[in-house]
Amino acid sequence: MDNQMICGRFAPTPSGRMHLGNAFAALLAWLDVRSVGGRLVLRIEDLDTTRCSAEKAAQVLADMRWLGLDWDEGGLLNGDYMQSRRTEYYQQAFDKLAAQGLVYPCFCSRAERMAANAPHREDGAVVYDGRCRKLSAEEQAGLAAEGRKPAWRIQTPDEVISLTDCNLGYFAQNLAADCGDFILRRSDGVFAYQLAVVVDDMAMGVNRVVRGKDLLTSTPQQIWLHRLLGGDPPQYCHVPLLLAEDGKRLAKRDKALDLGEISSRHTAAEVVGLLAWWAGLLTEPVPITAAELAADFEWRRVAKQDIVAKLPANWL
Ligand code: GLU
Repeated sequence: MDNQMICGRFAPTPSGRMHLGNAFAALLAWLDVRSVGGRLVLRIEDLDTTRCSAEKAAQVLADMRWLGLDWDEGGLLNGDYMQSRRTEYYQQAFDKLAAQGLVYPCFCSRAERMAANAPHREDGAVVYDGRCRKLSAEEQAGLAAEGRKPAWRIQTPDEVISLTDCNLGYFAQNLAADCGDFILRRSDGVFAYQLAVVVDDMAMGVNRVVRGKDLLTSTPQQIWLHRLLGGDPPQYCHVPLLLAEDGKRLAKRDKALDLGEISSRHTAAEVVGLLAWWAGLLTEPVPITAAELAADFEWRRVAKQDIVAKLPANWL
């Protein structure tokens, strides 16, 4: 691929202050693109308007700038890059998939979906058993008449979708067995992340996706949706997760590691150095800028295993 054509993205969900885990993935996404002179898009993944807000998005963007992570397109000034304003594009894609006969209404409540006969995947996710796929048109009409609002699912094929992740290597899933029919649109009308992310990556010309490893199991679904919608899937690079000392994924609850707390006590160069050390790009956590790291960035050196985000003794 011509380096000039590389296009990556940041895709934050502005539901709270960024923590070091978000900053870690953002730094690697930035290095992946800037080390080869590519373009970066910033898209705001605010589909869930009950948890996200423009104020929180502005804070996330300010934190990225503080870290020295810039972008070429998108952000808050242009509504075209905010998922909450892109419903018409998701609707068009939904209609295209429905026209292929793959979409059906699902009237199951959450409790029914979690019911015992749904097998559990290794990572604990529940595979929907497809029961609403078997409803007749009369049964569907009956349930709708009772006032039940359906979610909309896509029927997955008994097909293995594989990828070569540029950080983690080969990964494959049988869509029917490992993923099951998944939701494209929730019963409250909100389009699902899986659909929105594919529509947006296609529309924005994204061909490199760098993100946390928690999304690796979503990737075969996304590759399949890209194909159904007539696009070329991007190259995926999943990065390890930062874990709290109890072994759980860093989350908003770990206040000590959010950027508000960290930036009040450390410089951006110190934080970038710490992240780069955790990533395997430095042998010790010394202050450095993202731009300095871009000079010799290589995926070969990036950690593959999740990382316990233990702060160096002089940081505490
Ligand atoms: N919006 C997601 C997040 O903040 C990232 C989705 C993606 O990279 O595909 O975790």
